[in-house]
Amino acid sequence: MSRDDRARTTHAEGPETALRVAVDPALCIGSGICLATAPRHFEPAEGHRSRARPDAPGADESAADAVALCPVEAIGFLTPGPPAPAPAPPGR
Ligand code: SF4
Repeated sequence: MSRDDRARTTHAEGPETALRVAVDPALCIGSGICLATAPRHFEPAEGHRSRARPDAPGADESAADAVALCPVEAIGFLTPGPPAPAPAPPGR
């Protein structure tokens, strides 16, 4: 995740929004800072890393704090995407 990406995403903070946190497992070093800073958004994962909680609320100030405090810039926000297309009927 680049610094530019972080700059764009952290400005989305504020009141609850539909944005969700995401952790890049290739970058996470397992410092645990996000777990302590925003426990409603993060949970422990394999290899002493963290990941976004599946039941995490929308982005809030604690999530933005975790983004800012992550020492390796492994956290960002996912914007909600369009709904997935319906699967093609069988035989097509
Ligand atoms: S703060 Fe960053 S490096 Fe530390 S556990 Fe969370 S995602 Fe991983």
